[in-house]
Amino acid sequence: MTDINVDPNEIKKFSDSAAHWWNPNGEMKALHDINPLRLNYISQRTSLSQKKIIDIGCGGGILSERLAKEGAIVTGIDMSEEALHAAREHQKKTGMQIDYQKVTAEKIAEKNPEQFDVVTCLEMLEHVPDPASIVQSAAKLVRKNGDVFFSTLNRNLKSYLFAIIGAEYVLKLLPKNTHDYAKFIRPSELASLARDANLHVEEIIGLSYHPLTKKYELTKDVSVNYLMHCRKL
Ligand code: SAH
Repeated sequence: MTDINVDPNEIKKFSDSAAHWWNPNGEMKALHDINPLRLNYISQRTSLSQKKIIDIGCGGGILSERLAKEGAIVTGIDMSEEALHAAREHQKKTGMQIDYQKVTAEKIAEKNPEQFDVVTCLEMLEHVPDPASIVQSAAKLVRKNGDVFFSTLNRNLKSYLFAIIGAEYVLKLLPKNTHDYAKFIRPSELASLARDANLHVEEIIGLSYHPLTKKYELTKDVSVNYLMHCRKL
């Protein structure tokens, strides 16, 4: 079976940046900056201690490690060998025991249905050819009443101006070509994919960047970046 839902160009972009994954001021700075906010959000909505969590598109493990620090038993999957290498090297230094695997969400879901209490899939859906298939896999991986968290970018004029023009060209928060506008997903579209996968949408919350204070915060404004919390029915 070919990994049909993997875009090699996307994987290459992340592989090329992987050596700098853990530099808080490097190319992944934005992920480091938003990490405390999203960790906080997730831990407020579900308990993490001793929970089995799978982090889909874990990259270098910025979120996976924080989840493990909260006492979760974490599996991190990604299709970039280099990103996984960065993740494994980093956890050697921090003494974490995350199970990092190079496997697609579709494949691991096939073999491990309902094996996880929590699924996280952050800043990943906008990099795959078929996000619906990832949502389906996330729903398959989580146990009944378990929690699923997604985050991605909304698709509208403001998100184009902020997430691409602003973040990549003006403020240089992200490397150029990090994002492809056409792959952004509206909250209504993601909610519909979730419902099709038998997930109930519990809450959608915005994650905004303030250029003047250079700070991110969780807000009601979902027009650019947003997080969605779902529960499996
Ligand atoms: N979730 C992490 C990393 C986000 S970057 C965080 O928020 O900190 C997006 C990641 O998705 C990259 O590491 C990239 O290699 C991975 N990715 C892209 N397409 C993928 C696919 N089809 N399967 C698994 N991982 C994928």
